[in-house]
Amino acid sequence: MPMGRADWPGLKTAKEHEEFDGAIAAYRRATLLVNPNQRLCPECQLRPLEPFKRLCYICRDKHEKESRRERNRRYQDNGGSTKTES
Ligand SMILES: [Zn+2]
Repeated sequence: MPMGRADWPGLKTAKEHEEFDGAIAAYRRATLLVNPNQRLCPECQLRPLEPFKRLCYICRDKHEKESRRERNRRYQDNGGSTKTES
């Protein structure tokens, strides 16, 4: 089952898709115009930073996944050493 924007309700034609994308671009431009001091994410330098956040949502997600992987790795290291000691 395809999961794309084509499946979004209310967006039926290519024209509507174009208008939707245009609205997003216009919104982004407006945000930057309204707030010229808008900071960019220090990691990717691409996405604007949300207030009180240190990273954009993409980079936050990435860091979250990395720290989860790190926890898993440590857990496996401990599990190996406790069982085989004699
Ligand atoms: Zn980022």
